[in-house]
Amino acid sequence: MIADKLKELDLFIDYGVPKEQQKEARTVVDKFSHDPLAVNIFHNFYSRLPDAVEDCIEELVLLERCQGQLLFLVNTSHASYFYLANSEKAEWAGSSREGLAEELLHFFGFADQEAFFKKYGDFSGLPPYSPDFLNTAACPICYCREGELHEFGCPVEICPWCDGQLINCDCRFQQLGVAELNTEEQLQRFQELTQKKGRIPFDAASQRPAYPTAGHPAKKPQ
Ligand SMILES: [Zn+2]
Ligand SMILES: [Zn+2]
Repeated sequence: MIADKLKELDLFIDYGVPKEQQKEARTVVDKFSHDPLAVNIFHNFYSRLPDAVEDCIEELVLLERCQGQLLFLVNTSHASYFYLANSEKAEWAGSSREGLAEELLHFFGFADQEAFFKKYGDFSGLPPYSPDFLNTAACPICYCREGELHEFGCPVEICPWCDGQLINCDCRFQQLGVAELNTEEQLQRFQELTQKKGRIPFDAASQRPAYPTAGHPAKKPQ
């Protein structure tokens, strides 16, 4: 699938990038050709060209990650845009001039636009996104790093009671003493109980390869 997208990208770049910048555009794409997150961003950008003018992506910056969604700043020859990406797809999330939409601010834990700009200023001097990001022991679903806790609800997280898959085993029902889990309060309480028991951080060696759910977007337990 990533190969198909790269093939299409080659065509999009022919049409969407000024002749004199096509080499640069392709160099950036090549650098990230093994990273589905970046390829999804390139694919979305060059197939749509958000400002409907020929343009060229010069750099990606990873700003935030939450529940398997990553917020990128995409610097082009003309402007800077936000993109929301996961391993399946990427979507345009506005221009950096206008700031981040309210629902995204809240999703990534910012009280308001001011708090967001306070953290990032004018977005200059941020480290560029690394082509090795996915190779350096990230959880394939929620992208936490080695030794970090998963986003709660990540299907890769191991249950501290039964060593099963935390979002699929029956421990949540036993621990809460209920037959069904359907409210935020229950979920919250289960998270607290899990924390108390001792949540199991991400360990690439034992958790990464075998999980059949790898490659699917993160789901909260229902
Ligand atoms: Zn995870
Ligand atoms: Zn369990």
